[in-house]
Amino acid sequence: MRPSVDPVQSDVEVPARSDVIVVGGGIAGVSTALFLAQRGISVTLCEKGRIGGEQSSRNWGWVRTMGRDPREIPLSIESLRLWRNMNAIVGAETGYREAGIVYLCDTHRDIEKHKAWLEHARPYQVDAQLLGPEEVDRLLPSSARPWAGALYTPSDGRAEPAKAAPAIAEGARRFGATILTGCAVRGLETQAGRVSAAVTEKGRIACSAVVLAGGAWSRLFCGNLGVKFPALKVLGSVMRTQPLEGGPECAVGASDFGFRKRLDGGYTIARRGATEADIVPDSFRLFFDFVPALRVQWKELRLRVGRRFLTEWQVPRKWPLDEPSPFEKVRVLDPEPAGSLLEEARRNLSRAFPFFSNMVEAERWAGLIDVTPDAVPVISAVDAVPGFFILSGLSGHGFGFGPGAGRLMADLVTGAPPIVDPTTFRYSRFFDGTRPKPY
Ligand SMILES: Cc1cc2nc3c(=O)[nH]c(=O)nc-3n(C[C@H](O)[C@H](O)[C@H](O)COP(=O)(O)OP(=O)(O)OC[C@H]3O[C@@H](n4cnc5c(N)ncnc54)[C@H](O)[C@@H]3O)c2cc1C
Repeated sequence: MRPSVDPVQSDVEVPARSDVIVVGGGIAGVSTALFLAQRGISVTLCEKGRIGGEQSSRNWGWVRTMGRDPREIPLSIESLRLWRNMNAIVGAETGYREAGIVYLCDTHRDIEKHKAWLEHARPYQVDAQLLGPEEVDRLLPSSARPWAGALYTPSDGRAEPAKAAPAIAEGARRFGATILTGCAVRGLETQAGRVSAAVTEKGRIACSAVVLAGGAWSRLFCGNLGVKFPALKVLGSVMRTQPLEGGPECAVGASDFGFRKRLDGGYTIARRGATEADIVPDSFRLFFDFVPALRVQWKELRLRVGRRFLTEWQVPRKWPLDEPSPFEKVRVLDPEPAGSLLEEARRNLSRAFPFFSNMVEAERWAGLIDVTPDAVPVISAVDAVPGFFILSGLSGHGFGFGPGAGRLMADLVTGAPPIVDPTTFRYSRFFDGTRPKPY
């Protein structure tokens, strides 16, 4: 059940040395490689499977500032700026379109929540605005459900997950990056405590910095280095339709469904307001780190115990670098979608927008989303291992955030003035007594 993703050929030659190695070819890794290569830094990106094969090709494709954790607003604004120019920067189609995003409200309580968020956004002059019921009807005339109002941001957009990471990877290559696919990084070597090389399944590459952008795998990678990275995984399930003429252009989120128009004329559809999460050994190991998140998200979570408990129990947490690592055993994480949630999404959407009742489903899939305890990414150096950087834990909104996050990581690696204040994203916040919580 893999969604299609534009293919990217691997470079053949494995360099003996590269200034920076990027681990992972999702949107975070390819964006980092692009902004490093653009500065003339020699960079090699290693992806164990396919570019964009995991979360970055499986997401809804929303690119938004609206509704973000206030700590993330400055970087999401920068990300949007980068998306607007991305096709020109990389010389290829990422599918980015500035089509607007709407959050529909069932109750006045929802509206009050959005009002409070608008106060956070005000200093940044985001064009987000509250709409009354009549304005919602004018914006979305095909809706049949009465809405109390909506939060609408015309300058938010959408991009095409099947195209974006591959296009950016090719762009990075044009600026001089080496792109290796089917090439897992097993771990790092250090000299006098500093990163000195990445050990890959295709050989050792000497380097002075490694950026870990491994998505759902980053915690495992860190564990082998003795670095604790608190992240759990939740399941996101999606379906896409065949092309449908005449539907809404903007992406729409309601309490119990969400949709986004695709470049091929179809729609990507999912159940909002409910997320499946497997109970796995890490759920116990990280229980206390995630208590604040559980309090906030309890109502949305559908916990289950299934096969993944055993599968994850069997994955080694330590391995030698001269033997195949767990990353080589699973080239592309491809979980089963939650059929019941997709059926609910289809039902709720067809009732609210009868336009969709004749839709023909073309494909469905799922992705495992890596989430940190405060649902804010880590974009940071790891002080205990000089030369080691983490860009991970993008917590379900990293597709839109990816270009900004990659740009910030390139700043941190090269010591350039950072595009935004990186303090929010520091790795050490989990251990310095801050006890960060989700917004
Ligand atoms: C169903 C769903 C809906 C979503 N909707 C949205 C949305 O609308 N908007 C939004 O902004 N975000 C959304 N997200 C979240 C978004 O997709 C992710 O936050 C983002 O794609 C994460 O990018 P990444 O590069 O960190 O990780 P990934 O895309 O998962 O990439 C990590 C890559 O690292 C590779 N890797 C791991 N370990 C190694 C190793 N040791 N060696 C080599 N390679 C390795 C993996 O193979 C993988 O390809 C959604 C996610 C899902 C699943």
